[in-house]
Amino acid sequence: MSIASKTSVIPHRVDALKACTQGATYEGIIMPQDLPRLSATVVSVKGEVAAKVHFSRDESNYRVVTGELDVLVSVQCQRCLSALDYDLHAQMDLAIVTTEVQLENLPKECEGWLLDEQGEADLYEAIEEELLLALPIVAYHDPADCSAQGQYSTGDFEEPVPEKKNPFAVLGSLKLSDKAGSTDKES
Ligand SMILES: [Zn+2]
Repeated sequence: MSIASKTSVIPHRVDALKACTQGATYEGIIMPQDLPRLSATVVSVKGEVAAKVHFSRDESNYRVVTGELDVLVSVQCQRCLSALDYDLHAQMDLAIVTTEVQLENLPKECEGWLLDEQGEADLYEAIEEELLLALPIVAYHDPADCSAQGQYSTGDFEEPVPEKKNPFAVLGSLKLSDKAGSTDKES
């Protein structure tokens, strides 16, 4: 039996074991203010998080939660230090465990999610964690959109261009023109 419960707002806490047995799916939104760590990490969270999470048992009989998370955030461009919009997308794939021992015994490739003593899952915390992990380490505007365009070092700017500004070079050319001019002037 599979129950798909569609809610407009993702529940904060879920009876994860029951949800796995039921094969429950939650689809909805989470308000940015409910994800304080994400809000503190980016410049701003520009909308609700659209989330779809599904509880089930996988082929190895592990209880798992899988999901898709999307939210538009504003992050800092590391070149010009102003804000830039970033479509943050995260995929959730966690094995649900109820004890530390189970957590340690999970296959290496499995990311575990340890439930609290009541067997309840803080869904927001897990979702927030996945979103934080999906954030880019550094973000940049497209060069054409970046206000720091040309202020950073590229091959073009590292090339020495002092020939014209070198005061000695200027003197040199003055001397040359003096000499050239002197014969003209005095004749
Ligand atoms: Zn920029």
